[in-house]
Amino acid sequence: DTVLVVGSGGREHAIAVALAKSPLIEQVVCCPGNGGTAVEGGKIINAPVSGPDNATIVQLTKQFQARMVVVGPEAPLVDGLVDVLAKECPDVMAFGPTQAAAELEASKAFTKDFLLEHNIPTAKYRNFTNVDEAIAYVDSLDIENDRQVVKASGLAAGKGVLLPTTKEETIQAVKEIMSDKAFGAAGDTCVIESFLTGPEASCLAFCDGKTARLMPAAQDHKRALDNDEGLNTGGMGAYAPAPCVTPDLQKEIEAMCIKTVEKMAERGTPYVGVLYAGMMLTPNGPYVLEFNCRFGDPETQVVLPLLETDLYEVMKACCTGTLDQVDVRFKESCSAATVVGAALGYPEAYPKGMEITGLEKANSIEGVKVYHAGTVLEEGVTRCSGGRVLAVTGLGSDLQGALKTAYSGIHEVNFVGAQGEKLMHNRTDIGRKAVEKKLR
Ligand code: ATP
Repeated sequence: DTVLVVGSGGREHAIAVALAKSPLIEQVVCCPGNGGTAVEGGKIINAPVSGPDNATIVQLTKQFQARMVVVGPEAPLVDGLVDVLAKECPDVMAFGPTQAAAELEASKAFTKDFLLEHNIPTAKYRNFTNVDEAIAYVDSLDIENDRQVVKASGLAAGKGVLLPTTKEETIQAVKEIMSDKAFGAAGDTCVIESFLTGPEASCLAFCDGKTARLMPAAQDHKRALDNDEGLNTGGMGAYAPAPCVTPDLQKEIEAMCIKTVEKMAERGTPYVGVLYAGMMLTPNGPYVLEFNCRFGDPETQVVLPLLETDLYEVMKACCTGTLDQVDVRFKESCSAATVVGAALGYPEAYPKGMEITGLEKANSIEGVKVYHAGTVLEEGVTRCSGGRVLAVTGLGSDLQGALKTAYSGIHEVNFVGAQGEKLMHNRTDIGRKAVEKKLR
């Protein structure tokens, strides 16, 4: 079979590599892919398009006679790509939620109401569409004893969450989102919720419209610099399985995902694809912070390498409502860690166009795989084209081993400036806290 993978990030590179392992697949067409998928070889090719819209994806699906389309990023899902495919290519399986089901990511207000209605643990909250009412609500609270988080309800590229500490700051945050429209229309509705504490974990589940199977939990590292300092980023590294999610918690969180999928089906918006539950492990048990309607990046680069079952079999089962017939297995006694190589300066201004060296050497290390994100292939040379340029994943029999392998890989890689200077930045402490906790 031929499968189309929509997207150009490290997530999509990891999906393409995992799909290509399936004996059932002849070709994986990345739309548009990146400099990594361009040279991957074997079954993986890039479609000659840039940033394709829904109509182009439909056209490519027909042109390549694809059996399945896997949608990586949230934007095309929220934009209704799966609905368009169902209409234009009814025989093709689309892996991802419909626009109506993608509401779980597109509207935090919808998700909060949904979680409350179905008794799935989440922070106490109120939704507002009127700024004066929102401010009056904040004013009525004892913020010193009940700190609040203020969120733009819509999509804001992971930036729409503000964490004020005082009452003044909280009111300011409401104004920023609702009046100043700091995140545009995403702030037309605003969620104000209680501040929770505890470790966070990314819990991804395969969903087939009826039920869900949880993958090993991952932890990502959002801040740009070591010790969780610096600005927020798309993610600087991750590891899985996250030891803080014990087998009991894993079961509890899987039950929440199953319930979510069952209730989405009951309301006539069945959920197919990956449900990503952003969890906080509070002293009162696991709480849902948010849902995303797709694989995470860089979580995918550590979760999929652990999958033992054929990814294409799992995705087909998701698209056909037969997940209960597939034994979704992950490697035992195996951990994965990934370290992102970013262009120096990211997430602020950063240079582009640098040649990337050491890729072959890194990939030749046992257990190392370099997943590309912001890269392009120009006349045979792989160059930087984005902020998060690549993610180097390492496997090991435990977290420590996986981290060692990942770091041995990224140490080989460099982004070389015009004067030969090193223009790559990576965190040096991915997974360190988890390892130290275990050693104590
Ligand atoms: P992402 O980039 O993960 O998609 P997002 O902007 O869509 O994020 P959330 O995951 O809801 O939104 O929030 C971002 C971060 O803000 C969380 O990872 C968490 O650290 C913090 N956060 C969100 N809600 C709360 C809360 N109720 N209490 C404490 N911290 C919170």
